Amino acid sequence: MLKLYNTLTKTKEDFRPISGKQVGYYNCGPTVYHYVHLGNLRNFVFADIVHRILKYNEYDVNFVMNITDVGHLTDDADAGEDKMEKGSKREGKTAWEIAEHYTKAFLSDLKDLNILPPNELPKATDHISEQISQVEELIHRGLTYETSDGIYFDTAKIADYGKLAMLEKQDLKAGARVEMGEKKHPNDFALWKFSKPGEQRQMEWEAFGRMGFPGWHIECSAMSMKYLGQHFDIHSGGIDHIPVHHTNEIAQAEGIVSEKPWVSYWLHNEFLNVGADKMAKSGENFITLQTIKDRGFSPLAYRYFLLQAHYRKQLSFSWEALEAAEQGLKRLRAQVDALDTTDPVDFHVVHEFESAINDDLNTPEALAIVWTALKEKKMNRDMIVRFDKVLGLNLNLHEQEGPTEIPLEVQQLIDLRATARSQKNWEESDRLRDEIQKLGFSVEDGTDGQRVVRP
Ligand code: AMP
Ligand code: ZN
Repeated sequence: MLKLYNTLTKTKEDFRPISGKQVGYYNCGPTVYHYVHLGNLRNFVFADIVHRILKYNEYDVNFVMNITDVGHLTDDADAGEDKMEKGSKREGKTAWEIAEHYTKAFLSDLKDLNILPPNELPKATDHISEQISQVEELIHRGLTYETSDGIYFDTAKIADYGKLAMLEKQDLKAGARVEMGEKKHPNDFALWKFSKPGEQRQMEWEAFGRMGFPGWHIECSAMSMKYLGQHFDIHSGGIDHIPVHHTNEIAQAEGIVSEKPWVSYWLHNEFLNVGADKMAKSGENFITLQTIKDRGFSPLAYRYFLLQAHYRKQLSFSWEALEAAEQGLKRLRAQVDALDTTDPVDFHVVHEFESAINDDLNTPEALAIVWTALKEKKMNRDMIVRFDKVLGLNLNLHEQEGPTEIPLEVQQLIDLRATARSQKNWEESDRLRDEIQKLGFSVEDGTDGQRVVRP
């Protein structure tokens, strides 16, 4: 039985979906005003592990992850500039171009990290009417008030506001400086903001009698409920989302749905740190997946590094640790490569592996079980291929699909070699083969073209 730690109840619970084997799962996606960093990617790999473990347990999963391309302000509480407009000024491009560029980069990171594609990847700007409808519904239910700069959720109207963070109302933003503006209470938050008079926003829509744009929280409530229904099973994000974003999503959604809770299980991953600080988009410790690729690491080494820690423990990034993960993954692959499908197996290993992953996604334990079983020669190739459906480390080299992990440099040589071969320039083709070999890869020529083999 799958057990998950639920932030809502602060306990590890048996996972029981609302509707048989069907599971609705929503993870908050990125705000696409900049590249995502390794800390953000910890969340997306974690969500992928949730997704994969659900599938491994034969649930029929509908996994939705949004793209926030409007309305997320630089200050999570309703002050500051829209991050998209900020990105636009920074780069001298339109907010729409910024969104497109960073969405593409994000999708490429997902692919590099072997993250299974979500069933839906809705963009906030494509779901404005759904967001307006939810705001209208909340107005209709008397849970809002209007100020000169927007429509706000009146948290005093909700008795259990803040239950996810388990903090008293007055404590919820304790320590944080909250721009009160015309808000009645520091916890109140914008559902919809009006464009400032005289300001020409790039992304704005007409609603409630003037131009404006959605608040960040209503986007996730509207998109999750559109694709997963009024109630669904799992919602996740990084722990920083607990006190504001997810707390506010719950307030809005439970203001609309008839039964509580709106979502059964809330899962949150801990931070990736650099030294003592969390990795942040605004900080100096911002490292992207491209940076690690440029330094010669494979994206899956980063995935392996993440899986070595439990998602609810803080994890410290260092280049030494990444190097160790790269070596660990290489050794693991080499061992798997030496296995055959006919090797003897001990089926206790399957049970142990499944108990680990089903115990609140204990991937470090699952990896330790794999290593021990390899050492004790208790696994065959089929078994590890089955486990890799959860780990997603491309352990079975013979089943590699695309050249996702082949460095750009090698790929360019392969492309040049394909051209040389099509021109029957065998001398050049052989020279390029040697170049490829120098970089640690080799090519085999088959009837359907070249096949790249890893070291
Ligand atoms: P954002 O694009 O800022 O909304 O962040 C995307 C996801 O990354 C959210 O789920 C955040 O909670 C998560 N996140 C942000 N920083 C970190 C970090 N340093 N470690 C782990 N997760 C993070
Ligand atoms: Zn969200």
